[in-house]
Amino acid sequence: MIDLHVHSVFSDGSDAPAELVRMAVESGVTGLALTDHDTMDGTGEFLDACRAATITGLSGIELSCEPLGGGELHILGYGLNPEHPLVVEKMKWAQEKRMERNHRIVAKLNELGMPLTWEDVLVHAEKGVVGRPHIASALVARQMVTNTSQAFSLYLSKGKPAYQEREYMAPQEGIEMIHAAGGVAVVAHPFLWLKDSHRLEAGLRKLKAMGADGVEVRYTSHTSEQMMELLRLAGEIGFFPTGGSDYHGTRKPDIKVGCGFSSLCVPDDYLTAIFRAVHATENPFVVLGNASC
Ligand code: AMP
Ligand code: ZN
Ligand code: FE
Ligand code: FE
Repeated sequence: MIDLHVHSVFSDGSDAPAELVRMAVESGVTGLALTDHDTMDGTGEFLDACRAATITGLSGIELSCEPLGGGELHILGYGLNPEHPLVVEKMKWAQEKRMERNHRIVAKLNELGMPLTWEDVLVHAEKGVVGRPHIASALVARQMVTNTSQAFSLYLSKGKPAYQEREYMAPQEGIEMIHAAGGVAVVAHPFLWLKDSHRLEAGLRKLKAMGADGVEVRYTSHTSEQMMELLRLAGEIGFFPTGGSDYHGTRKPDIKVGCGFSSLCVPDDYLTAIFRAVHATENPFVVLGNASC
């Protein structure tokens, strides 16, 4: 069992990379990829911990991309070099765009009569890339809402009064960056992007034409029908299937590493296609551990 989608304190997860590895081992996970939002700063600590625990580990990232008319388009990258100049440059850009947006959200909340400060938000960000989940936590701590879901449903979600659009990188740009840095590009949680099956198929074909390599077939919130649908589309379009929990720690407390809500179970052999594509045996950003593939 593997898990190719987890977040750490380097973005909006609540656990350090080494802690994620410890939990993975405890749950019987044999392969793990760290996929923080728009940052790879946790990679060194993560791969060291994988080596020490002898589990299979892949460097990773989750890029927020221009959704082309859909909900959220996130592209996962695996096995890429965190120090490749394009990665460094584009992550700096993405983090600047995030920061502009975060400050506008705080200003909007202030205009709505909530005296939240930037320092209130930073308390919840530790060392990571700051996003709406941290603003939500600050609103809870300042007792302006009762929980983070309420923060989103009252203020932060699209269409709500403190929502702020953000500039994203084009999906093609994200895919090309991942490839340039030696990795593979995978469409994350496709149903959070396009809910309608026909639009989704057209959208996935478009991303395939842009060079995407895989699709996240197994995902915590997917029903078995959605999983089967994605597996079929992956076969028809020529994507390899991947899977992960989207573990965030205390920010999404119902999700466990490797298990999702309970029965996620991504098979080890999903690694075979990824390993071939990223030349795993000679890739310094892949730790070959005990996953059987
Ligand atoms: P951002 O990257 O700043 O746009 O924030 C997006 C993140 O916020 C997502 O990855 C989710 O983890 C979280 N999020 C989005 N919508 C909700 C919601 N309704 N309730 C709780 N968390 C949410
Ligand atoms: Zn997140
Ligand atoms: Fe995502
Ligand atoms: Fe995620």
